Amino acid sequence: MTKTKYIWFNGKFVKWEKAKIHILTHALHYGSAVFEGIRCYQTPKGPAIFRLKEHIERLFNSAKCLEMKIPFSKEELQRVTIKLIKLNKVKECYIRPIVFYGYGKMGLNPKGAKVNCAIILWPWGKYLKEKVKVKISKFIRLHPKSVISSAKVCGYYVNSIFATLEAQKSKFDEALLLDYKGFVAEGPGENIFIVKNKKLFTSKLESILPGITRDSIIKIARNEKIPVIEKDISVKELKNCDEAFFTGTAAEITPIVQIDDKIINQGKVGEMTKFLQEKFYKIVRAQDKNYKNWLTFVR
Ligand code: PMP
Repeated sequence: MTKTKYIWFNGKFVKWEKAKIHILTHALHYGSAVFEGIRCYQTPKGPAIFRLKEHIERLFNSAKCLEMKIPFSKEELQRVTIKLIKLNKVKECYIRPIVFYGYGKMGLNPKGAKVNCAIILWPWGKYLKEKVKVKISKFIRLHPKSVISSAKVCGYYVNSIFATLEAQKSKFDEALLLDYKGFVAEGPGENIFIVKNKKLFTSKLESILPGITRDSIIKIARNEKIPVIEKDISVKELKNCDEAFFTGTAAEITPIVQIDDKIINQGKVGEMTKFLQEKFYKIVRAQDKNYKNWLTFVR
């Protein structure tokens, strides 16, 4: 991976190599940590962070679910993110805030372990290929009564790792997980949309992470008078769609051209996907003034 010079760790900017933790960090053993993934894009007015406020808000909500008290305010975390970008002199990057139960306590009650907070960033290009082949996983998404689905908790990602390893072993690019009822949930790190008869459909919020890119696409589509329906999507509906795509901070808007052995839209990127993808890239690069409140400029 591409290193940068500084990491913000528990209130200080430290050298990349110096951001170290103890082997008895609670989160390493039990997954008791929450995180975010945020992107910063180069724009004509300098680097801009996409929906920073909403990501920090979700980080605090996730922490609350694990009864973690973040020893910094939301405003402080926004400020240090901007400062870290400047210190590291990067223009485009992926930003990874993480809050984790650290050293000082073992056992499943994390109370008493120190709450640590770090922000790391590095240049990260495309996460997935230009267009992807997707395998429906034998692993189901975590049951909404097993976990708090709206929280972005590190431990949950073992479910995503199992599905990813399975998909890649079968030479697919990415997995797709169903929920406990057998409906389409999401990718290991992405939400999913399908297009049918010029309408957009996406899984309702139950067994999925409420993605900020998902929210952005819903808002963009509705502003363009494209109908968006959040519902339970069956595998049959999925495979009979006209177009499909993933959304996520890392994945951005990634067209899906195959699901299991079913080719979607003759393997080509669909019109609606292309339209939303282009719109999205213009917005993040500050070329659409209607959405400029989604950007935090690094000045
Ligand atoms: N689902 C999961 C499981 C994810 O990890 C992510 C990435 N954060 C998403 C959906 C997409 O969320 P966002 O658009 O906020 O990045």
